[in-house]
Amino acid sequence: MDETDIACPACSEKSMEKGMDELDIPHFGNVIHYYMRCKKCGYRINDFAFQGNFQKEDSVEIREKKDLDIKLVRGSGATMLIPELGLELYPGPLAESFITNVEGLLNRFLKLLPLFEDRKKVEEIERKIKDAVEGKLRFTISMSDPSGVSHFIRD
Ligand SMILES: [Zn+2]
Repeated sequence: MDETDIACPACSEKSMEKGMDELDIPHFGNVIHYYMRCKKCGYRINDFAFQGNFQKEDSVEIREKKDLDIKLVRGSGATMLIPELGLELYPGPLAESFITNVEGLLNRFLKLLPLFEDRKKVEEIERKIKDAVEGKLRFTISMSDPSGVSHFIRD
């Protein structure tokens, strides 16, 4: 642990010390864990930096219902596109890391749709997503992530 001059957000004492360690998290690869800890009150701050070694761009074609079970890891820096469904997910303040399968991904998009104003477009996309979930529609998911964290899990 290293001493710092940083004041603790909880007790305001300048008693924060910092350290780091490396973790190996399944599906996320190597993760650097930075942390600070207050010597007085024990308050902790954690931060994680992911270092993936997966290819920076990848895509998968969904042809039938069982392909909906393909799992994927999305890092916070990933751009995801599903052109056939008109869906796009970009890195941004709302972007979060998650592991899900294709069906779970489509459900995530369904939950985001009410945020958009164009009702007609929203209804059209909703209909397409529902067809996709039922395996009636073929589509392609492409992912690009400069950090190399995001990837499809094919087994
Ligand atoms: Zn403190």
